[in-house]
Amino acid sequence: MKYIVCEQPGTFSLKQKSMPKRKQGEALLKVHKIGVCGTDIHAYGGNQAFFTYPRILGHELACEVVEVDEDNRVKVGDQVVVVPYINCGNCIACKNGKTNCCSNIKVIGVHADGGMQEYITVRTDLLLKANHLSHDQMAIVEPLAIGAHALRRANLQKGEYVVVMGCGPIGIGMLKLAQLAGAIPIALDMNPNRLQFVLDEIGIEHMVNVSDNPVEQVGQITGGDFATAVFDATGNQKALESGPDYMAHGGRYVLVGLSKVDLTFNHPKIHAKESSILCSRNATLEDFEYVMNTIEIFPTSSFITHVADFDQMIAQFDSWTKPETGVIKAMIQL
Ligand SMILES: [Zn+2]
Ligand SMILES: [Zn+2]
Repeated sequence: MKYIVCEQPGTFSLKQKSMPKRKQGEALLKVHKIGVCGTDIHAYGGNQAFFTYPRILGHELACEVVEVDEDNRVKVGDQVVVVPYINCGNCIACKNGKTNCCSNIKVIGVHADGGMQEYITVRTDLLLKANHLSHDQMAIVEPLAIGAHALRRANLQKGEYVVVMGCGPIGIGMLKLAQLAGAIPIALDMNPNRLQFVLDEIGIEHMVNVSDNPVEQVGQITGGDFATAVFDATGNQKALESGPDYMAHGGRYVLVGLSKVDLTFNHPKIHAKESSILCSRNATLEDFEYVMNTIEIFPTSSFITHVADFDQMIAQFDSWTKPETGVIKAMIQL
């Protein structure tokens, strides 16, 4: 079978190997669609922490069950979304239901080989039946679940102003889900095309270009109160450190994007607001299920801006790393 491996930063190869053999408790899956994520782009760029090479990337997967234990809840022929976070089930986080931040976590496509291959074996407790969804919808469940988890971390309330910094795939998902939850989202980005997208496709009314006095603008939109929940979906140091400026007194600030740096906040500023600063990592089964039950409100086809066949992926990949191509979500099909 065919697979694509990231040999080292900047180099993919299309190769052949034998089919994986499934163990008991695992399913053999045929991969139909693979969403390309910022993580994959950073792995290819060599600027992702925790990566070792060679690695088969791909963790946003739409698959079909080809072989599984007979008594399993998923059956041959079922379409399944893969929850790519392999948790241990035994650590303190797992025991407390926080499998998303398991202390022994292995993420498929990051710490273990991922879905850029024709077939993959996955533990069946990490599969969610998705016979009611299209392959495209299935492949975007994971990035949307990341956003759903972040909103849940903040215990989002109806009617509250929410700032989302960064209108990439994660930020766009959060804006839509915040709107669905009855909050009033404010989108921040420096790229006017991305802001136009959230206006046209997500129906976000409040948009702020960060190159134009963003703190003042958020103050105006919120009647001087600022946002009671602020989310960073950029992972950019400058943006991350600016989050508390958009936050109301008594508000929450949730860090979703990941940087590699030490962050600095002025203590009196965050103290005066009694800031709750939270991190949000990955997502749980609950978040995946929530997204799968609400995904029909999401503009899947305009969100997926680029598609390539598996054999064409290597030739296309460089263009997906460039924002000027208008890429939001690229998808590989096989
Ligand atoms: Zn992803
Ligand atoms: Zn664990």
